[in-house]
Amino acid sequence: MRILVSDDVQVKGIEALRANGYDVDVKKNLDEDALVKIIGDYDGLITRSMTHVTRRVIEAAKNLKVVGRAGVGVDSIDIKAATEHGIVVVNTPESNTLAATEHTVAMIMAITRHIPQAHNSLMAGHWDRKTFTGIQLQNKTMGIIGVGRIGSRIAKRMQAMEMRTIGYDPYIPKERGEQLGVELVDLDTLLKEADYITMHTPLTKETRGMIGKDEIAKMKDGVRVINVSRGAVLDINALAEALKSGHVAGAAIDVFPTEPLTKDINPFIGMDNVVITPHLGASTVEAQEGVSVDVASGVMAALRGEPVPTAVNMAPIPKQVYARIKPYFDLVERMGILGTAISNGAVTGVNVEYIGDLADVDTGLLTMATLKGILNPILQDSVNFVNAPDLAKARRMQVQETKKNSDPEFVDAIRLILQTEGGAVHTVVGTLFNKGEGKIVKIDDYRVDFDPNGYLLLIPHRNQPNMIGQIATILGQAGINITGMQVGETAGSEESIMALAVKEDIPSDILLKLRGIDGLLDIKVIHCEPQE
Ligand code: NAD
Repeated sequence: MRILVSDDVQVKGIEALRANGYDVDVKKNLDEDALVKIIGDYDGLITRSMTHVTRRVIEAAKNLKVVGRAGVGVDSIDIKAATEHGIVVVNTPESNTLAATEHTVAMIMAITRHIPQAHNSLMAGHWDRKTFTGIQLQNKTMGIIGVGRIGSRIAKRMQAMEMRTIGYDPYIPKERGEQLGVELVDLDTLLKEADYITMHTPLTKETRGMIGKDEIAKMKDGVRVINVSRGAVLDINALAEALKSGHVAGAAIDVFPTEPLTKDINPFIGMDNVVITPHLGASTVEAQEGVSVDVASGVMAALRGEPVPTAVNMAPIPKQVYARIKPYFDLVERMGILGTAISNGAVTGVNVEYIGDLADVDTGLLTMATLKGILNPILQDSVNFVNAPDLAKARRMQVQETKKNSDPEFVDAIRLILQTEGGAVHTVVGTLFNKGEGKIVKIDDYRVDFDPNGYLLLIPHRNQPNMIGQIATILGQAGINITGMQVGETAGSEESIMALAVKEDIPSDILLKLRGIDGLLDIKVIHCEPQE
């Protein structure tokens, strides 16, 4: 079998492929036309982010069975087109974890003992033993925002330094925190109590700009801030101000809202209480090797027709099963996204009830897609169809499927029931209209009827005159186009829920205005589109 490697991939993985009898060509810098011309000859393709595997490339790839991405992000690959053509896409989600963890540790130590500054001073000919007095980590508090793969490893390492570890991660249950020795607290408590604050969340709608001026103001005097996650999670200009005033004693930053960070946008130039590195979190020999070896083994497994744990899309499904479940696929994933949005925090139990039409079908893949939807807003592209059940398990979610031939409320439907750590139970019911159009027909106790597409505003409110008018006026004045609207009611209740579909995201000042409307009980903006 022939494999094309079209970007820089470390040699170990290529050697592994050759050692297993694969015929490997390395051809770099191919544009779309050049790739289209030759791709028909290959069974496998391995890329990094430089090669764009477009629909045109996929359609020309008559023999292609697998695309391997040496790395995490798969934005450069048209996953939908690949799935439609039965091509498995694999990536290497875990190979950077240790490298990023250890870089974070190095950054913590560097700002604690002023290593780069002392080094530079000595290299400049000074013997200065006064300026660079550090502090001790023992008995200090490390605040970890995002206790996932990297955050949990940071906890372990900082515990070895005899630090107290506290964490803010609303999506993992207390029990998981206890297991890791991390006391889970709310964000305000973490900001107030931590001597060090380190960020390890993905970049999501919620985490973008999560640590800005107001959050920094809540931090302890003399706090130290570290970010090796994603640049846009932290407002670096607000951080620079706080470093200047001395409120923040030190900072170590590896990732920036705009990369590369050029001189003109670097707010830290000339500061001596900062250590910055040019996105080096994943830059270790072992991580680069790991990425190449992992992608090679994923590609080989796919070519042998074995299930691949790092597959991003689904392996080919038997035709008869696919025909029955296909129309529901997209719907359940969107139901999962909605479920997370209305659950406010850690989900501990997931029950997917298949009612009527689907009661006698193998619905395992639909449950998988539902889990992907539930985890997608929290974990972004590190969750996929294949790893969603394992991730749910690791996050202590009890997952269950129920089949019902009949139900007092619905004939053919899927009811997603989410149990939350706080004890609340939330429900989303979806069904298909016109044999293919997904609709949400119930949210908690409210009967609704809307398409789960684009941006959705869910607005529980008191039943009183002019609620719709006031909301529509504010959105209209802001130039936001409402593309659908539905009010769901519960018999005998004084409250209703409004579901508004809009084309674009709602700016925060407009949200604030909406929140000021008397009788409006809550407002949630949900981006219903799944991330690949
Ligand atoms: P992960 O998905 O394993 O963990 C992320 C954690 O963040 C999860 O536990 C999730 O529940 C939590 N989270 C999500 N939304 C949150 C919120 N609003 N508030 C608090 N917690 C929230 O991810 P990971 O593999 O640990 O990676 C963490 C980050 O590090 C990612 O952004 C990744 O892109 C980045 N990273 C950077 C480098 C680098 O070179 N600097 C290398 C590897 C990873």
